Amino acid sequence: MDHNDAFMAALSEGKSVARTRGHTLGRWQKVTEDMYVSMCLACSKLTWVTQSRGEKRWRIGGSVVKQGCSEGNLRASSVD
Ligand SMILES: [Zn+2]
Repeated sequence: MDHNDAFMAALSEGKSVARTRGHTLGRWQKVTEDMYVSMCLACSKLTWVTQSRGEKRWRIGGSVVKQGCSEGNLRASSVD
């Protein structure tokens, strides 16, 4: 699958939303042809972009786009 304009647009949209919420995203990692994920380096929340079969448009989702960086349980990272 080509990394077309729609895909690149979804990545930059995800990055932009993440920044708005205070997150610092790491590298995007390929899960499947239809799904890429990225984790916030500060709070370990995830975001992803997915594409449904037969659709051109990619959608972004995950905790990063729903919650701010300091929200939720940050305790997980300080356990060990
Ligand atoms: Zn974060």
